[in-house]
Amino acid sequence: MLSQLNIALHPFHKERPWRNAVLIFLLTTLFYFIGAMLRLVEELSLFWPLNAVMAGIFARYTWLNRLHNYAICYIAMLAYDAMTTTWGATSLVINLSNMVFILTVAQLIVRDKRRPEKRTLPVSALRIFNYCLLGALGCALVGAFASVGIDNLTFWPLFADWFSEQFSTGVLILPCVLTLTWPRWVGPFRVEHLLPIAALIVSLTASVAIGGAGSLLFPLPALIWCAVRYSLLTTAFLTFLTGALEIILVANGAINIFVASPLEMPRMFSVRLGIATMAICPIIVCVSVNAINALMKQVSLRADFDFLTRVYSRSGLYEALARERNSGARHLSIMLLDIDYFKTINDSFGHECGDRVLVTFAQKVQEIVGDSGIVARMGGEEFAVVAATQDPRQGFMLAERIRLAVEAHSFRWRQQTLFLTVSIGLSSGTAQSWELTERFNKLLAEADDYLYRSKKGGRNRTSARDEETLAESVSVEGNGGNPESA
Ligand code: GH3
Ligand code: MG
Ligand code: MG
Repeated sequence: MLSQLNIALHPFHKERPWRNAVLIFLLTTLFYFIGAMLRLVEELSLFWPLNAVMAGIFARYTWLNRLHNYAICYIAMLAYDAMTTTWGATSLVINLSNMVFILTVAQLIVRDKRRPEKRTLPVSALRIFNYCLLGALGCALVGAFASVGIDNLTFWPLFADWFSEQFSTGVLILPCVLTLTWPRWVGPFRVEHLLPIAALIVSLTASVAIGGAGSLLFPLPALIWCAVRYSLLTTAFLTFLTGALEIILVANGAINIFVASPLEMPRMFSVRLGIATMAICPIIVCVSVNAINALMKQVSLRADFDFLTRVYSRSGLYEALARERNSGARHLSIMLLDIDYFKTINDSFGHECGDRVLVTFAQKVQEIVGDSGIVARMGGEEFAVVAATQDPRQGFMLAERIRLAVEAHSFRWRQQTLFLTVSIGLSSGTAQSWELTERFNKLLAEADDYLYRSKKGGRNRTSARDEETLAESVSVEGNGGNPESA
């Protein structure tokens, strides 16, 4: 089942050229068939999706860009024509026009992908628009040249029809093919999620009801709303549906943009170009929004975590506390940890060694605290631990576990072994969730005072209010579990 799903998602495989060749042949035949079927239905005869789909596939899987793969695609088209039409040699040129679009667009996108300097995504979305323009121009030149005389049509009307069809279909379909993934729903469903789609339907209905050339742009704000709310694939798909529907509605006269005269082909030319121009806007917006969101995530991640030790930064700790705002009242233990004589490590072994020690130290503390609390670097070689504990005694036990683990740990630096100790100041108290930050600040100041006491008292120790009682109760409990020491 899983492997079937994988094949459906990733039909092409770099190491399987034969399978790729067969797939290219089958897909070309399938979309040629679909295109031919669309031509039989008058409303849909405005679309020829094959070229955009194949260009998208070649652009997506860059390693498919080999001459023989393009040749297979071309042969599949010729074979289809040979079996279903009597075009003879004309088929060679007409299908060459399809290949011109596929090759031009795929090569241009692949060239962008291979560039060492990665272009920003909104720019590449705009480029797809330009590449479709170029591909459609080349395709229309060859195609119109080959079809002159068919149905007594002359070159320019043929060129206009061919060009506008290829261009609009390309802009509508390519973003879908390039972003196609297995759909997945993120988060719980809410009715509000459907509002942008509802707005899209309303605006399309308004286009039909009001008519006129401007009505074609009515769906644009709704599409941009979709772009802000939905994924790139969903936006691309909705834009494709809207654009295709508008083309069909105009062609059928359902959206009446020519009040006095019946439809003529050169007017359809303008409609298609207009719709393609509109269609690229939501794609650019969606890609920009995604880029901004990704950047924001990256920036906030950088600010929330200490770059060197990967534990929370001071500001990240406050953010984490703010996220706990709705978690109810609880008992908290706050520890301030300061490595003893850290300066001598820098002085004796160098700054680089000092950095490595800080990383290992932070990992060690994080390992001991685990899921029961948060570790943050407050600055220099000073760290804080915030742990949810049942009572002050449990906080004291955790602090002592950290202190003893650091004392027992041997830090390796080049061929040498270093030992460290840490002084800890501990405070604890119950905090309501709504006053978590204020309470934390007070407890932190208290922990700082006790840290000072630990340093003054000779270092490598934990100081807290009632520390003697706490230490006694901890050691009694420890001994109680060990009959030999009783
Ligand atoms: P004690 O706390 O036991 O009183 O002595 P100490 O030597 O640890 O005290 P102090 O706070 O004076 O020294 C802290 C040193 O930590 C000073 C500074 O050079 C060093 N330090 C601060 N941040 C970094 C860092 O990111 N990397 C390295 N390698 N050293 C740092
Ligand atoms: Mg210090
Ligand atoms: Mg220190």
